[in-house]
Amino acid sequence: MSSAAPSEETPDSNTEGGTPSREPGPGDRLCARVACGAPAVATLTADYSGSVMAVGPLSPERTPPALDLCARHRDRLSPPAGWTLVRHDPGREPQELSR
Ligand SMILES: [Zn+2]
Repeated sequence: MSSAAPSEETPDSNTEGGTPSREPGPGDRLCARVACGAPAVATLTADYSGSVMAVGPLSPERTPPALDLCARHRDRLSPPAGWTLVRHDPGREPQELSR
């Protein structure tokens, strides 16, 4: 009976799992609508005292209770009855939609 010496070769490779550097960017934020999951491109804020909703470019920081919205939901956004929706588009004149 001859048994060879057990040779366990462990490959000396440093494990690189995942990306350690997480940079906060637009891809990090998702649409706040349930079951949407699209990347957020706009931030919606609401002024309950004045019944005014404002939607504009994605805010650099999450500022609750502001909601992040994807392009589709931003475009489909319509103010509830009695509310005014103000859209802030970069490079465009602010546009007011009243109901
Ligand atoms: Zn969405």
